[in-house]
Amino acid sequence: MVDLRIKRQDKDRIWFDTFQVEEEPGMSVLEALFHVQERLDGSLCFRYSCRGAVCGSCAMLINKVPRLACRTQVANVKDEAADEPKDGIAAVKQSGRIEGKNEILIEPLPNLKVIRDLVVDMDHFYDLMDSIRPWIDSAEKNYEKETLIEPSMQEKLERYTNCILCASCHGACPAAARDENYIGPAALAKAWRFYLDPRNRDSYKEEILDFLNSEQGVWGCDVVYKCVAVCPKKVTPTPAILEFREKME
Ligand code: SF4
Repeated sequence: MVDLRIKRQDKDRIWFDTFQVEEEPGMSVLEALFHVQERLDGSLCFRYSCRGAVCGSCAMLINKVPRLACRTQVANVKDEAADEPKDGIAAVKQSGRIEGKNEILIEPLPNLKVIRDLVVDMDHFYDLMDSIRPWIDSAEKNYEKETLIEPSMQEKLERYTNCILCASCHGACPAAARDENYIGPAALAKAWRFYLDPRNRDSYKEEILDFLNSEQGVWGCDVVYKCVAVCPKKVTPTPAILEFREKME
């Protein structure tokens, strides 16, 4: 048996519930949560959709580390020590306590408002993403035929286009914890992707450098690489932020 110690929230009331679940071979944390919801407490709220690490909706804090519940195996996290997650990722400090062996601590993603239990309000995260205008506007370029890009450029862009908007990086980010207006690692990585893209209008580069040249932009980053460590899709926000800084210096 494994204990799921789950942070619950209903409006201002916050508490922890512990549920015993029989572990099955290959069981993911998401499957363990289904077990709780279907057999032990139907009021438990959490978000999910694809169950295959594609949609990003089941991101939550598992043993103090932002992870996708669908791709986190119970067997890999049930014995993690409180301050030393097995995969070496720095833990989020402001979370609860892991009390014993065979226990998994599950909490909502930090730095976003909790709607209920493990469900966070993603609107703020999406607004931050929108603020960098994440689309290709080629109006200045007047293309007359299909626009091809070099494979080497495509490779560079892919590192950023793989983002599934799970907000794990935002939940791990100390700058986002301090300042809710900090644009955050996901949006900054996305901005770098549109800065690089040769199909975008040329004036975007100047405008985005101007927009991000502030403490809420690239200068707010602590350069601790937590976003890189937790990203399930190997997106690398911190190097993108450092590239932006070089352009501004
Ligand atoms: Fe999730 Fe990675 Fe995108 Fe951040 S950069 S939202 S961790 S996929």
